[in-house]
Amino acid sequence: MGIKELSKIQSQRYARHLVLKNFGLEGQLKLLNSKVLIVGAGGLGSPIALYLAAAGVGTIGIADGDEVDLSNLQRQIIHSTEELGMPKVLSAKKRIKALNPDVNVVTYDFFLDKGNILDIVKEYDFVIDGTDNFESKFLINDACVLANKPFSHGGILRFNGQTMTIIPHKSACYACVFDSPPPKDSVPSCKITGVLGSIAGMLGTIQATEAIKYLIGYGELLTDKLLIFDAVSMDFDKVSFQRNPDCKVCGKNGIKELRDY
Ligand code: ZN
Repeated sequence: MGIKELSKIQSQRYARHLVLKNFGLEGQLKLLNSKVLIVGAGGLGSPIALYLAAAGVGTIGIADGDEVDLSNLQRQIIHSTEELGMPKVLSAKKRIKALNPDVNVVTYDFFLDKGNILDIVKEYDFVIDGTDNFESKFLINDACVLANKPFSHGGILRFNGQTMTIIPHKSACYACVFDSPPPKDSVPSCKITGVLGSIAGMLGTIQATEAIKYLIGYGELLTDKLLIFDAVSMDFDKVSFQRNPDCKVCGKNGIKELRDY
């Protein structure tokens, strides 16, 4: 279904994928027929959206209710000084279309919540969490487990990043690992403690790579593993986890509907 062959221009655009072993035309066609939802058009969402667009993911959905602020530009590289004050999703769409007109961009100019997230998530093949707060991360996990959608979790703070890929009901979910959100204000935010801008690029590109691997069906995903890095020492570690049979989200008595956070 969908796109079955490449135009001459597409063959040039994706030439480095087409010659890439284990990717090739088959992988490129899979990407062009894929739909990925990016939640958050900020520090993580910027490199994620740019690389997925450049790679030729056919449909990219972007959800964010914020507008571009001057303090965003230190790391949110999809936006420009020219777009200050513009809704982030529109600024992101403008940049994606300039990069690759093949991509169909669907914008959601609001924050995803309990009332709207499920209907949106259901439209996509893969979801990427590029949010900056625990409530959103748990909500995305709940929604992806309920809708049975694979997704990439990501978080950054100071000089650190962490990410894992979740295939609901097959690999450990975010709640298998972290159970529930920490008490409000017990963990500082990027706004309070700061974050090195390039950390967002390091982590976001890993998340984009996981999405591409999942979509083309090649490689070993970061499932049942949390990848953590500390850019001060440049140490990367993988911590293994298993599904928790009693997980309140994906366990045998797991949630049947979305919860409030
Ligand atoms: Zn779970």
